Amino acid sequence: MLHAVIIGGSYAGLKALRVLAGRPGIRVTLVDRHPYHFLQTEGYDLIAGKVPFDATIIGLRSLCAGFGSNVRFRLAVVRDVDFGAKKILFEEGEPLSYDYLIIAAGAVTRFFESVEGLRHYSSGVKSLRAALKLKGFFEQELYKRLESAAQAKEHYSILVGGAGLSGVEIAAEMQAYFNRYYRANALSCGRLQIHLVGAGPEILSGLHPAVVRAATKRLKALGVRLHTGARIVKVEERKAILGDGKSIPFDFMIFTGGIVAAPFVRKLDAEHNRNGQLKVTPVLQIPGRAEVFAVGDAADLRDRAGRRLPPTAQTAELSGAVAARNLLAMVQGRQPKKADLRIRGLAIALGGRYAIIEAKGIRIYGFSAYLGKKAIEKLYKFPLKFRARAGFRKLGMCPVEEG
Ligand SMILES: Cc1cc2nc3c(=O)[nH]c(=O)nc-3n(C[C@H](O)[C@H](O)[C@H](O)COP(=O)(O)OP(=O)(O)OC[C@H]3O[C@@H](n4cnc5c(N)ncnc54)[C@H](O)[C@@H]3O)c2cc1C
Repeated sequence: MLHAVIIGGSYAGLKALRVLAGRPGIRVTLVDRHPYHFLQTEGYDLIAGKVPFDATIIGLRSLCAGFGSNVRFRLAVVRDVDFGAKKILFEEGEPLSYDYLIIAAGAVTRFFESVEGLRHYSSGVKSLRAALKLKGFFEQELYKRLESAAQAKEHYSILVGGAGLSGVEIAAEMQAYFNRYYRANALSCGRLQIHLVGAGPEILSGLHPAVVRAATKRLKALGVRLHTGARIVKVEERKAILGDGKSIPFDFMIFTGGIVAAPFVRKLDAEHNRNGQLKVTPVLQIPGRAEVFAVGDAADLRDRAGRRLPPTAQTAELSGAVAARNLLAMVQGRQPKKADLRIRGLAIALGGRYAIIEAKGIRIYGFSAYLGKKAIEKLYKFPLKFRARAGFRKLGMCPVEEG
């Protein structure tokens, strides 16, 4: 039986797994450093306390069990891949051989080394740990104000560096959360000020001007302070210094301004772009390695015209499906097909019950878009949750052992 290994149990890897599971003649091993899939696209809801943290994770061991007996899960940190020997090497434990490999190990926040202090004084939001840290800080600030009348008068500020999709969603959601709290409880005289800082001339660079205008208006209505055309050149404890010499004080800083491929991906003996993402052929194979595919944020994904695609869960899922189908084609002696990757639409959460959806030239704003965004999230999550529950029943009460 052929052995296909998928590194990374998130949007890209799980889509590939869904295509491969149950196929005759193939067994699949999913490898991840975490025993859960963190739903990054719902991270803003977690930070704003709208959902409990278990609503944003799916257990990978149960999920794999739910896919049937030809799927296994291995909890391990990948260190390297020996492409010649077709072996995956781990930080700990025996290497794993493969016939086919899909690298779906995603990306991490890029703390630009040229910006002194950025890594030290700011936090990312791409991991569950980082999202919980931010949520904890936020709730502690509110709590301190409950216990101390003096502190209740103090203003505090959160600086969000990077005005792309994730920066905008987080800034809007946190400001909306505080505004709601402030109005409903009258327990804080000090205000929370979110500063959203972007280097480009406007927020959400590359999106349709009507979307940018509506999002800008919404952020301003919430009270978010926008700083566009503002490049952060240095970060000190509680202060970000901009290129024009001005500075913005903060109590907590989040950085969402860029990504780089997962650390081991950057070191693989393969071709990379400047973000460390793996270059891929039009069928998503690594050049010169027909049995290895790279997908999602770990890969340099392009549309048919060769334009680079932004890192989204949507392109991660599409590319994961294409790679798995091409893998099957190779197993069955057919030609792999070129990927046709594109952004089919976007749903942006903008605090409270307001969102913007843009798809095929149609734009929806406000509460109906919010309902649409929630429906998209649920359509993604519920089939996985359902399968994980079925897998849990198969595994028994405490399925945490290595296996
Ligand atoms: C706050 C926020 C909001 C977002 N909102 C949206 C949105 O609304 N819509 C949208 O389309 N996109 C959104 N995105 C982007 C989206 O989340 C990413 O593009 C998507 O997660 C990429 O999926 P992936 O499967 O390629 O990688 P990831 O989700 O990054 O997953 C990679 C997996 O690989 C595993 N891994 C990494 N290294 C190793 C190793 N060495 N060994 C073993 N396992 C490893 C990780 O544990 C992880 O499970 C948002 C991102 C953020 C941060």
